[in-house]
Amino acid sequence: MDATEPATSTPSSTDRFDVAIVGGSMAGLTAALVLGRARRRVVVIDAGHPMNEGVAHSQGFPTRDGVAPTELVALLRDEVAVYGVTVIDGRVGAVARNDEGFTVAVDGHEDLVARRVVLATGGRVDLPDLPGLAEVWGGDAANCPYCHGWELQDRRLALIGDQTKVPMMARILTQWSDDIVAFAGAATDMAAAEQAGIEVERRVPVRIVQTGGRLQGIEVDDGTVVPCGGLFVVGLPVAGSSLAVGLGAALDEHGFVAADREGVTSVPGVYAIGSAVDPTHQLTGAADSGTRAARWLNHDLIEEDLAAR
Ligand SMILES: Cc1cc2nc3c(=O)[nH]c(=O)nc-3n(C[C@H](O)[C@H](O)[C@H](O)COP(=O)(O)OP(=O)(O)OC[C@H]3O[C@@H](n4cnc5c(N)ncnc54)[C@H](O)[C@@H]3O)c2cc1C
Repeated sequence: MDATEPATSTPSSTDRFDVAIVGGSMAGLTAALVLGRARRRVVVIDAGHPMNEGVAHSQGFPTRDGVAPTELVALLRDEVAVYGVTVIDGRVGAVARNDEGFTVAVDGHEDLVARRVVLATGGRVDLPDLPGLAEVWGGDAANCPYCHGWELQDRRLALIGDQTKVPMMARILTQWSDDIVAFAGAATDMAAAEQAGIEVERRVPVRIVQTGGRLQGIEVDDGTVVPCGGLFVVGLPVAGSSLAVGLGAALDEHGFVAADREGVTSVPGVYAIGSAVDPTHQLTGAADSGTRAARWLNHDLIEEDLAAR
């Protein structure tokens, strides 16, 4: 199969799956790979809007540094297909308990039935309302120096976003550039940043100035353009789905699903992994959490099957 060709199929409501995985990006497809290899009947439903949507290259994933995120997902889809995993392109509108486990309602498809559910619904980036930001996002603008610091190194870097994080992130960015301008609100204590040689800009950004997707600077509220060649926006991700809320699962203080290291949530039979649980995960962390949860979930099913013998 061509690596870019989606491995989509349309199961019927009479199909019974061991596991339904909502979200088919790094965490969900990694869990599917482990469960497929454990000879589980697995269905993955994916709406196709991962947290890193619009990013041209993913960095730091071992053996695939610099690959396009879409290619990484396509490769994973090919791999899970080998083990008979079903992948549906679609959006899950609701998950509810039934006598056999869970009913998974997929928009435009028949309902699916599965014994266990994995929420791999990721995070969502709500960009600040700044004209021009979308045009540079994923190229000259990003949110994490560990993902994109190398590519933006030694440029004049601007920093905007969550004021609780700007002072610390400004200091972290000194590893990638000696020329940093941090946009800080009037009440934000930037003394430690200034000691580290960071320029503090107290005027309010109103527009990203860009030409053909290349960042030129940031226009502030008096009309001045503060020049920069790279931009970091801190503190962005929010939970990618409210399905956990519908299931009555406990959330953490930031609205992400509360789950332990094995992905176990407060609702029996419901697991949560990847950025649905921790938005600070990079791709390796998302893959690791998918693997851990898949193993634990499989043990859970093995015990249930043995008890029924
Ligand atoms: C701008 C940016 C750049 C990044 N760059 C890098 C990088 O270079 N290297 C790196 O290691 N990490 C990078 N990351 C982090 C990386 O994107 C995440 O670690 C990774 O995407 C998390 O994977 P995930 O599977 O947990 O969730 P996601 O990738 O967010 O995927 C969740 C999936 O679930 C789907 N979904 C949600 N709700 C439903 C529903 N109801 N029904 C069906 N499907 C649903 C979504 O559409 C999505 O496809 C970056 C993040 C951002 C924001």
